[in-house]
Amino acid sequence: MEEAAYVDYMGRWLCKNCFIEFYEKKLKNTVLKYGMFGSRDLIGVAVSGGKDSMSMLRALSRIFPDLEIKAIHINLGIGEYSRDSERVVRELCDELGVEAIIYDLKEREGFSLPDLMKTTYRKRICGACGIIRRYLLNRIAWESEVKILATGHTLDDTVELLFELYLNGRIEEIVRVKPVLEGGDKLVKKVKPLIELTDQENKYYADFTETPYSELECPLVRGSRMLRRKELISRIEKEIPGFKHTLYKSHVKRFLPKLEELVEKPELKACRNCGMPTIGDLCSYCKLVSRALEVAKG
Ligand code: AMP
Ligand code: ZN
Repeated sequence: MEEAAYVDYMGRWLCKNCFIEFYEKKLKNTVLKYGMFGSRDLIGVAVSGGKDSMSMLRALSRIFPDLEIKAIHINLGIGEYSRDSERVVRELCDELGVEAIIYDLKEREGFSLPDLMKTTYRKRICGACGIIRRYLLNRIAWESEVKILATGHTLDDTVELLFELYLNGRIEEIVRVKPVLEGGDKLVKKVKPLIELTDQENKYYADFTETPYSELECPLVRGSRMLRRKELISRIEKEIPGFKHTLYKSHVKRFLPKLEELVEKPELKACRNCGMPTIGDLCSYCKLVSRALEVAKG
């Protein structure tokens, strides 16, 4: 295993201990700068079992020892991939003494992600998975008295999303890409402590701190446009060092304040089926579930 980290946008090598210190300082700065939570708050940490959210869980519990953390993991029922993810989540939570809320999609909701592959959601399975995770993470947190939920979205995730949204002019969604999304009725506050750290930095941190994580790739994501866009962005970053940080900063500091004035906040009402906040009559999760259950039963 490597014993030093190359931080590309600084053009510098850092030894293992300096890197760990550097990473934790950066994460702490992000949390404080955007007022994500207080050092004694109760927060939910959404952990997928991948390197990013697992690094975040360890780092948060080290940086803020008085934080009360509930780790939340959804087992999506994707065979060995999901089993391995759940296993590493349990392992890290045990080591850190953090409460783990494991939510089994098939057991609790009656369908799994592979069931959705038999519906029209097949073609946009990653989008459907996103709907499920966003909805359930919010609901599980809300029902567990957790008012702040941290997710492991990285700088790379954010720039990939911005790239797609700006390219297509999806302004209503662009204004929701930010480090902190305030909560509301039945909506917990969402925070992204890793938003200024790259995928590579999270990998170094996980490896240097011997944090367990699953290296399995989701078998449903193969060849996805999201992965292709991330590769493209990495190539741009090589040609234009600092590209990702610059785009992110321009978005947050320059565009967001202006766009937020222009774009009206959508009115939310209660979903007629589940009562959770939604723009339409029936929330996108309830629409998805009704189709998924037809297949799962059938
Ligand atoms: P992704 O969209 O896969 O990049 O995931 C973004 C973030 O969502 C992760 O860093 C986690 O915080 C959260 N997340 C993803 N999958 C799960 C899961 N199965 N259970 C809990 N949280 C998840
Ligand atoms: Zn609903």
